[in-house]
Amino acid sequence: MSDDPETARQIAELAADDRPLLVLDVDDVVLEFIRPFPRFLEARGYGLTLASFRLTGNIAETASGRLIEQAEVTTLLGDFFDAQADWQSITEGAAQALAGFGDRAEIILLTAMPHRHRAARRSHLDALGLNYPLLTTEMAKGPAVAKLRGKSGRPVVFVDDQPHNLTSVRESVADAGLFHLMADNSLRAFLPPVSEDIAVVQDWHEAAPRIANALGSKS
Ligand SMILES: [Mg+2]
Repeated sequence: MSDDPETARQIAELAADDRPLLVLDVDDVVLEFIRPFPRFLEARGYGLTLASFRLTGNIAETASGRLIEQAEVTTLLGDFFDAQADWQSITEGAAQALAGFGDRAEIILLTAMPHRHRAARRSHLDALGLNYPLLTTEMAKGPAVAKLRGKSGRPVVFVDDQPHNLTSVRESVADAGLFHLMADNSLRAFLPPVSEDIAVVQDWHEAAPRIANALGSKS
């Protein structure tokens, strides 16, 4: 398991903090993704029909019906993230939940996207009032969360909609509290059941008190 050097550089810029650590994915945890992305695709002449929990293989050119290749999906995703301020709103309940943690936890947003989109996402989050530190990674999330925790052994909670990210954090931070939260719960139908040590939460209203409990603070 290797570290993303740019993510490590971003982490090194953060002030030292020994409060309980709450690390959050962004797309479909803090910001809506899978609901606005199809609307963006439509505007560009493509259609998304989810038949599995992935984008490649499920996006077709509307005019021809041709399923587009991975490289084209990557380009469209890049364009979407460049224009995210026009498309991505806050996941229902997220802002209130995060505000509710107050200063009892260090809250960090950890998004798996090319580093070049960090500035656009930063300014969008700021415009939405979500001024928590934002880190980007192009590699596995687990090593980044371990580095964020530091040496203090403080409580760690990690929230993501992608099972492989939860697994990555489990491998790097064995005692992290893991929460599987999906902005669109209908997508769970495409996933195998998550492992028993991962808490499944339906929305931020359910997640907030359980996360507070896992962080060792009262909500
Ligand atoms: Mg996500």
